[in-house]
Amino acid sequence: MKVSEHIKNSKNTLISFEILPPLKGKGMSAIYEVLDPLMELKPSFINVTYHRYDYMFREIEKDIFKKIYVRKRPGTVGICAAIQYKYKVDAVPHLICGGFTKDESEDALIDLNYLGIENVLVLRGDPAKDEKSFKPEKGGHPYAIGLVEQVMKMNRGEYLNPDLKSALSTDFEVGVAGYPEKHNEAPNMATDLRHLKAKVDAGAKSITTQMFFDNDKYFKFVENCREAGIDVPIIPGLKPITRRSQVKSIPRTFSVDIPDDLTDAIENCKDDKAAMQVGKEWIIEQTKGLIKGGAPIIHYYTMGKVNNMIDIAKSSF
Ligand code: FAD
Repeated sequence: MKVSEHIKNSKNTLISFEILPPLKGKGMSAIYEVLDPLMELKPSFINVTYHRYDYMFREIEKDIFKKIYVRKRPGTVGICAAIQYKYKVDAVPHLICGGFTKDESEDALIDLNYLGIENVLVLRGDPAKDEKSFKPEKGGHPYAIGLVEQVMKMNRGEYLNPDLKSALSTDFEVGVAGYPEKHNEAPNMATDLRHLKAKVDAGAKSITTQMFFDNDKYFKFVENCREAGIDVPIIPGLKPITRRSQVKSIPRTFSVDIPDDLTDAIENCKDDKAAMQVGKEWIIEQTKGLIKGGAPIIHYYTMGKVNNMIDIAKSSF
């Protein structure tokens, strides 16, 4: 089922999770260990992130190192298929522009279509570790909107090769990302919203937000989107703090604010166990507020921390 249909068919706030593919070399059991307990919470769908290549230095001769590129977390497409077939729950693979040519994106979409996957979350991706700013692959998309348009064309049977006259039309529903506190590269919120609206006008049917720790920012974002003419569901993304150090690393990595109260409470924790408890209680309150405010789905970024998630969801819904 499409994400928008899940929302349309439910009167209540739904739940979804986002998981990471395991590190290269681990088996499917690593994913099932994460998913088995989450299934108890009856998620409407499971998102699976996509990770571009990373680089490392490998010694090729004594004291001679070569920079090589590796994808540390491959497997998004296969994991999505396994989720749909094992649990009969919709899987939402993330598709990124970074590191992909348009042809490679087309091939990934063909695989997803064969596997019966109906939803994709389309993203640009962050700059690679060795880049100062995002650089598209040669022959790839510089912004997410290009990939949204590519999926829409495939939905009309238009593939990259114009000679394919009777190509099969796909039927993907596309979701995109939105930033209640503005994307870090956007000069201002109004410009960021204009680019977000362009993705929706191009065919995106839902927006999933970056994490935030203050619900007012989400509600204000929804209001601004509606004023800007963006009328698709806006799914709030939540991530609990699990370590003391995240008070510094999360704002740096994701360009989001952590409210004073939460910062103080975490900094006063004597260890990470205590910080995790504070983070958990904060997200429970956030979830309750979002449900009360009519959020269509609560989307949890699990980052592999499942026990925490189960406690949060059970205490909030
Ligand atoms: P875009 O929509 O392309 O926007 C990027 C920037 O460019 C913004 O500042 C925007 O305002 C601007 N912009 C957009 N269009 C134009 C234009 N036409 N001209 C000029 N400027 C423009 N990353 C991964 O690598 N893998 C994942 O699985 C992943 N999952 C994510 C899930 C969610 C819910 C979110 C919120 C983020 C996720 N990310 C993931 C991170 C994401 O890739 C980064 O935040 C990235 O920097 C921006 O992606 P985007 O799709 O929002 O980009």
